[in-house]
Amino acid sequence: MADFQSELKALAKPGDRGDGCRVFIETYGCQMNVYDSQAIGGLLNKDGFDTAADIFEADVVLLNTCSVRELAEHKIISRVGEIRRQRRNAHLPSVTVGICGCMAERLGDELQKGNNRVDLVVGVDNYDKLPGMISELMATQTATRRKRTATGHRTDAHYVAPPVIYPVNNSHLVTIHKGCDYKCTYCIVPYTRGPQTEKSPQAILEEIRTLVETGATEVTLLGQNVTAYHWQKEMDFAALLESVSGIEGLQRIRFLTGHPRDMHQHTMDAIGALDKVCPWLHLPIQSGSNAILKRMKRLYKKEEYLEMVDYARQVVPDVTFSTDIIVGFPGETEEDFQATLEVLRRVKYDQIFSFKYSERPGVPAAKLADDIGTNEKKRRLAEVMALQEKIWNVEAAREVGKTWTGIVEAPARHPGDSWRVRTPNNRKFVVADNLIDQGLKIGDEVSARITGFANTTFLTGE
Ligand code: SF4
Repeated sequence: MADFQSELKALAKPGDRGDGCRVFIETYGCQMNVYDSQAIGGLLNKDGFDTAADIFEADVVLLNTCSVRELAEHKIISRVGEIRRQRRNAHLPSVTVGICGCMAERLGDELQKGNNRVDLVVGVDNYDKLPGMISELMATQTATRRKRTATGHRTDAHYVAPPVIYPVNNSHLVTIHKGCDYKCTYCIVPYTRGPQTEKSPQAILEEIRTLVETGATEVTLLGQNVTAYHWQKEMDFAALLESVSGIEGLQRIRFLTGHPRDMHQHTMDAIGALDKVCPWLHLPIQSGSNAILKRMKRLYKKEEYLEMVDYARQVVPDVTFSTDIIVGFPGETEEDFQATLEVLRRVKYDQIFSFKYSERPGVPAAKLADDIGTNEKKRRLAEVMALQEKIWNVEAAREVGKTWTGIVEAPARHPGDSWRVRTPNNRKFVVADNLIDQGLKIGDEVSARITGFANTTFLTGE
């Protein structure tokens, strides 16, 4: 595989193409997009573009988008109109708007038609073309501008976000691969992000070493299916974890997201044995019914999933689990749905991300009749959420009185009262401001006694 960063030097003439043109990037969707936006920002800065603080300050607005749900795409289309309207109302000149990410890859030229058309469409593997495309657009009279699209998958396009703009909640994101080789029937990702293509272990280790040199102590390894990481038959995900663990100065390693089918026993053994690897597994089950799992093409059975959870509990101390659930998949009977609830009762997840099934054009499930009515989907979703809340309230209450240790990440959502701390197994607690006044800062380790909880956040006190 080509070294993409050195290729970039040939593709771009760094330094002055942007000539101070200000770009604002709005990010939607998953952590992969968060990382990609940082990489795009780095690419543009390197080429003489400046970062704008908001849409009003910008010459160019890029929306880095998600296609996972129809609603997410609708929101982006409205957002384009809203940006243009807000600029008009502020008596500002028309702004160049570009769409990046999954929606750009899925819809391509379509986004350059209609009322809310955009000037630029750049898919997930073509961000290195952005500086040139923007420069060309900015140099052309608005009225005569040609629309620009760059989409299509490339195996060599692995972007690296510069460390200076990198930290997210004190955990530095590092993508280890892109795309996905599975074809879960409801999922658009294999079509928008292409086949699974790995970053080399050397590139990953080098990226993390650079981060550590600039002060990072924690990384989150990112990918659509990190547990399937495999570098030329030499290194699988467990071996990669071991190599990353060897980096001196790095203290914690998290990872997102794994596929249950690739969470092998030896991977769990490695997670349990390597002190730096955090014991939190986000393993999307999607449904507790084998019939539905088969229709989703998830390639595991409920029983195998539960065995995996049991094994992880044996070999990974303090492990916690979170998951994704889809309710109302085509043909989901009440019995199928009850099987999903049963899995929730059995696993006792810390957190679930549950969604009503929504059809995505072009994926295999779109050929199945979307036969569960909207109200029934809503009812099932509400039931899943209510059950999770009930289970969590019992589990969380068991933690009261214990002393936890975690890393200070950021001010809590409600300012003025506390700071958010995350434990290795991904539980969140808040500590009072006065500890910060005493010199505690982001990235520091802090211990506190759990006194209660509100939803998934734990409260602490003396
Ligand atoms: S594993 Fe399935 S759900 Fe996950 S990204 Fe790949 S196709 Fe989509």
